[in-house]
Amino acid sequence: MPEVLKAPLVVEFPFTRSLGPVQGAFLTGLRERVVLGVRTSDGRTLVPPVEYDPVTAEEIRDLVEVAPTGTVTTWAWNHAPRRDQPLDTPFAWALVRLDGADTALLHALDAPGPDAVHTGMRVRVRWAEERVGAITDIACFEPYDDSPNGGGPAEPAHHTGEFEDPVTGIVAPARLDYTYSPGRAQTAYINALADRRNVGERCPSCRKVYVPPRGACPTCGVATLEQVEVGPRGTVTTFCIVNIKAKNLDIEVPYVYAHIALDGADLALHGRIGGIPYDQVRMGLRVEPVWTEGARYPDHYRPTGEPDADYDTYKELV
Ligand SMILES: [Zn+2]
Repeated sequence: MPEVLKAPLVVEFPFTRSLGPVQGAFLTGLRERVVLGVRTSDGRTLVPPVEYDPVTAEEIRDLVEVAPTGTVTTWAWNHAPRRDQPLDTPFAWALVRLDGADTALLHALDAPGPDAVHTGMRVRVRWAEERVGAITDIACFEPYDDSPNGGGPAEPAHHTGEFEDPVTGIVAPARLDYTYSPGRAQTAYINALADRRNVGERCPSCRKVYVPPRGACPTCGVATLEQVEVGPRGTVTTFCIVNIKAKNLDIEVPYVYAHIALDGADLALHGRIGGIPYDQVRMGLRVEPVWTEGARYPDHYRPTGEPDADYDTYKELV
């Protein structure tokens, strides 16, 4: 049995969102070194602010400034900071109730070690040097001595939440790092593709041939072990015309992406159709793979020139 493949798989995309008046004011405030909360009708102050009262669901807009100092209400030590976390040395994740607020804000707390952190400790905001209107404008919290010797408590301030040039939206990058292993069946499939062969697996019960194979028949619930070579030619069972250009993908739009049932397979796989104008692609079109040098997958499929397949021959695969 050859070694099962694995490889890094990164799913990464920018998430663009508009902020609305409350979150927008909060993040604009951070840019100006002002922390804003929102007041509920029963007089509580919520930091970070929300647009609706979590108890009554009433809309709330009454912005109030709170102090950049506060008290740790609970915390957990982060031994090994990960990529893009607020600090690159070990730190505490802490819930901090800022002075003047009734709820706590989650952020990083810079401390030399877990022994230096405790619930009830006093902390203050360490502002980022460059601020753009994001939660990262608070670089982190840091321990703060507010005894008279330490300079006393911070003065409460009063800001209305009105700013010039308010922040109205943010781009939040999302990234998920996986180590992906396709498993035994797909490892064999991928290794066969390196020789430009399509090898699926047949279900011992219903006799269907799955390409790519998953290692089991989803209908019968039994393992598929018998290897079957299929293709290389196949039939377009259905398709769509892509009109939106994907980032980092060097293909001119419009183009056609299709489900292709390879000859001998009982499951259609995906592939791009080339070598034919996009508006002439049709169900039943007979296609064959086009490989580029060194590639592990066909670059696309092109028409073979054969007559179209009869609908009855692939209707079970649509
Ligand atoms: Zn089966």
